Amino acid sequence: MKVLVLNSGSSSLKYQLLTMPEAAVLADGLVDRIGIEGGNFSHKANGEKTKFKKELADHKEALNTVLELLTTGETAVVSNIEEIDAIGHRVVHGGEKFTSSVIVTPEVIKGIEECTELAPLHNPANMQGILAMQEIMPTKPQVVVFDTAFHQTMKPENFLYAVPYSWYEKYGVRRYGFHGTSHKFVSERAAELLENKELRIINCHVGNGASVAAINAGQVVETSMGFTPLEGLVMGTRAGDMDPAIVSFVQKKENLSADDMDTILNKKSGVLGLSEISSDMRDIEEGMEKWDEKATNAMNVYINRIVKYIGSYTALMGGVDVITLTAGALENSGVMRKLILDKLGFLGIELNESVNDFRGEERVISTENSPVKVMVIPTNEEFVIANDTFNLVK
Ligand code: AMP
Repeated sequence: MKVLVLNSGSSSLKYQLLTMPEAAVLADGLVDRIGIEGGNFSHKANGEKTKFKKELADHKEALNTVLELLTTGETAVVSNIEEIDAIGHRVVHGGEKFTSSVIVTPEVIKGIEECTELAPLHNPANMQGILAMQEIMPTKPQVVVFDTAFHQTMKPENFLYAVPYSWYEKYGVRRYGFHGTSHKFVSERAAELLENKELRIINCHVGNGASVAAINAGQVVETSMGFTPLEGLVMGTRAGDMDPAIVSFVQKKENLSADDMDTILNKKSGVLGLSEISSDMRDIEEGMEKWDEKATNAMNVYINRIVKYIGSYTALMGGVDVITLTAGALENSGVMRKLILDKLGFLGIELNESVNDFRGEERVISTENSPVKVMVIPTNEEFVIANDTFNLVK
């Protein structure tokens, strides 16, 4: 079966065409600046990368061009769009309504729209991809895979905030968690590699966005992102955990609106805010090498937050069997992996330094004697979307 995986942002579109269940990638690419002057295409197929610019009014136009690339000329990997059997979409927020991936029906569309209030920027963008594909390929099944669904096993003791209960009842204020497809993929892969489904796993997804999840026997106990992706770890540009009193204090001092503050905490804080250099951990590592004080502080705050979450999730699960590291920073940076593991000696964890210098591979990096296994497992969110789509429509 051929599955087209789509991740639609407000002005961007990531796609991948895979054959399932083999999970062979036939083509993938990225379109950005949709609806903005100067649309950009980057398409990879048949071992060649194609880049070009094209004005794009909306997602439908972008998708039609992607389908043209997939079916015609040197970039083609199928002879016509009828060869595509199903479409899998990433949707950010499924609220409490969606606990797993589902085939798109009119009720599902309504359900996603009802969750829009919880993800006002993301869900409408995801919907644009779904609606466009319904127009272009109305007879093909479409599946939606939610970032929040895997976390729906959390119990009230871990998803409730200590604020008036009526906020939960009236507005759905609770911890939802995000990066669910990544936490699911990595924890299931660890269980498969270790041939044990009963493991207590702490998965650290640390890329530009970052979150930790405590997963016991395949069920999420708790995760660090909350009502929105702003909570938890320090991220590229997001603040993560902080005293909520800071918000009104600085708002009054600087005469900021609620929206101004929202933008600052999401786009101008985190590593970028602390270092005043960059949101990219490669630049922060470089800054540290040059003894830049702000870069060093940013890295230390960043690492300590990860270590704090590993410690608290170990306590919450009554122990931990495996720590998995994934996403851009921890798949690629031996320096950051070492900084974290050097602080986990209290768990008996020891880094096997001789195997830590690598990028983007599956590897155990703890020593043989380590009572907790530490593994790097590159994440693959597209695979989860393709696989859920395959399983629902086969
Ligand atoms: P992701 O969001 O998973 O694509 O991760 C992207 C982020 O990973 C970048 O913004 C960097 O902060 C980080 N990253 C990628 N490669 C490296 C590297 N070699 N060393 C340190 N950080 C990296």
